[in-house]
Amino acid sequence: MPRRERSDVARRDRYSLAPIRGNYTYSVGEVAELYGIADATVFRWIRDEGLKRLPGSKKYYIHSGDLRRFLERLNKRNKKPSSDGEIYCCKCRVPRRPSNNTIQAEDLPNGTIRVKAKCGVCGTGQFKVVSSKNWSETHPLYPDRNDPTIEHSGGDGWPRNCQT
Ligand SMILES: [Zn+2]
Repeated sequence: MPRRERSDVARRDRYSLAPIRGNYTYSVGEVAELYGIADATVFRWIRDEGLKRLPGSKKYYIHSGDLRRFLERLNKRNKKPSSDGEIYCCKCRVPRRPSNNTIQAEDLPNGTIRVKAKCGVCGTGQFKVVSSKNWSETHPLYPDRNDPTIEHSGGDGWPRNCQT
């Protein structure tokens, strides 16, 4: 299976924090311009990757402090080994990698993220709760880091919290 090509700009490894101003509110366009990336990338950061935007306005604005924290996390990706990239599947009865493109993250009010996905083997819905501060490109369940074809050999210690 051929690997999907990664976009250089959207997937480059490091974003310098140096150009970020101190106490400043950025528009999406300004962030895109700062790093020479597409507006769509910044929207994706906001929509899918946990970049905070300022509430209460129709347009999206990002505070420099939030931008800085977000990019720091982004820069740290690839440092963590994949140990957590599976979710227990109630039907297979083992932890499974979710299929690509089925992972959805939903913000819960208590600072956690509910990750919903579908089992890469049988397609059954899975979910897992992740701390929102861990939910970034460094997280092994994060979309794009999953290979849907890898099967887990099974394992112990997974919560058998399936509800029927
Ligand atoms: Zn399954």
